[in-house]
Amino acid sequence: ASGSDENDVVIIGGGPGGYVAAIKAAQLGLKTTCIEKRGALGGTCLNVGCIPSKALLHSSHMYHEAIHSFANHGVKFPSVEVDLPAMMAQKDKAVSNLTRGIEGLFKKNKVTYVKGYGKFISPSEVSVEGPEGENTVVKGKHIIVATGSDVKSLPGITIDEKRIVSSTGALALSEIPKKLVVIGAGYIGLEMGSVWGRLGSEVTVVEFASDIVPTMDGEIRKQFQRSLEKQKMKFMLKTKVVGVDTSGDGVKLTIEPAAGGEQTTLEADVVLVSAGRTPFTAGLGLDKIGVETDKVGRILVNERFVSNVPGVYAIGDVIPGPMLAHKAEEDGVACVEFIAGKHGHVDYDKVPGVVYTHPEVASVGKTEEQVKELGIAYRVGKFPFLANSRAKAIDDAEGIVKIVADKETDKILGVHIMAPNAGELIHEAVLAINYDASSEDIARVCHAHPTMSEALKEAAMATYDKPIHI
Ligand code: FAD
Repeated sequence: ASGSDENDVVIIGGGPGGYVAAIKAAQLGLKTTCIEKRGALGGTCLNVGCIPSKALLHSSHMYHEAIHSFANHGVKFPSVEVDLPAMMAQKDKAVSNLTRGIEGLFKKNKVTYVKGYGKFISPSEVSVEGPEGENTVVKGKHIIVATGSDVKSLPGITIDEKRIVSSTGALALSEIPKKLVVIGAGYIGLEMGSVWGRLGSEVTVVEFASDIVPTMDGEIRKQFQRSLEKQKMKFMLKTKVVGVDTSGDGVKLTIEPAAGGEQTTLEADVVLVSAGRTPFTAGLGLDKIGVETDKVGRILVNERFVSNVPGVYAIGDVIPGPMLAHKAEEDGVACVEFIAGKHGHVDYDKVPGVVYTHPEVASVGKTEEQVKELGIAYRVGKFPFLANSRAKAIDDAEGIVKIVADKETDKILGVHIMAPNAGELIHEAVLAINYDASSEDIARVCHAHPTMSEALKEAAMATYDKPIHI
């Protein structure tokens, strides 16, 4: 441990915000310590978020393909079955390899890793309670809070991680539930619902709002919901859960229309509560040093990530902005660049968002609804994957590319893709939007054939002119 030696930078939390900030700070020549209580680096994302969910999404997709699509491609098996412990073991292996990888990166970059629970004793001192209860004080000229977020429950619902689970429990169920009810139609609920639905659960998603994934472009959202419904996911929108009864074998949920009205019951073997996440600052001693938070507990920072207390910074899920791993990483890099006297920069309007279902939905920039609301004159260009040769060749052609561009200048304002690998395809658009490209800029770039990316080129052509293949 770093003992009483003073660090240039001390980071509390080893998630994608914290560990990336630590590595970057060390690369910039700053003496750096990272404190993490979990016993493993990588935070929510690596341990109970992005990575294990993507592992299960991939494994369950393979099973789903094996039973629904392989025969169409002339690949036949006498039978296919799920070995859930093996599926979980492959997920766990991916997680542990990656967390160990970060420890390796810390060593390589000479970041000091202190295991334990960090707590401010002053704006430049953190007391750390280690795994055996031992206390160390870590000092730093600059302290970055990167403590992330935690699962949010709902009033009257107690998460036991067995029958009533958060995303963490839903990533580690020991049996495939016959009936799974998901409360909350955000991306985490839909991803986890997809995993268990593909493995055989009957999935019902209950959502208070009138739409699934409220940030999504409306037209794409409609197609996405239809696609999930075709996969047998059921939606009860504008519906609220008002009671939970776990006295019997399963779980009985009492639900009613969001606007009030007749109550009904819904039965489930497992209920996943995915109603959002909340910034995690418990036991950190923020009040002791006077760090300001907003109504929901997020730390308020300026554009250099400094809180109202000089020398105390915050990044990632614990500050306002999209609660995404890549956003936390960008915050982390920019924050330590400022500390090192350089110029950090994060453009929050250009952070991509991806839902990793099948098909995936990825977007960057503004939705058509947002552009309309801003009163900007715009054009829309669309291209369906049904007309894309690669998508047809592999018989996976559900989806569309939609580009929203300024009517006058043709500058791209937003790109929305629903496609099997939309999360990869979106980055051409992310790059374009970051360089203030026009749709014609994308359309005039030679794209390899046959690729899914050609659909983006065609949608770009459709924005200011005409596509070729439809
Ligand atoms: P965290 O990752 O939450 O890390 C904070 C760390 O700080 C934790 O490890 C915690 O133990 C530690 N800590 C907290 N307090 C203390 C303390 N006092 N002392 C010491 N250590 C402390 N995002 C994506 O971009 N893509 C995805 O596909 C995606 N999938 C997700 C799936 C699920 C199921 C979930 C739950 C989240 C997902 N996310 C995804 C969101 C992503 O995980 C978060 O946005 C990201 O982890 C935030 O990073 P962070 O570093 O701010 O915080």
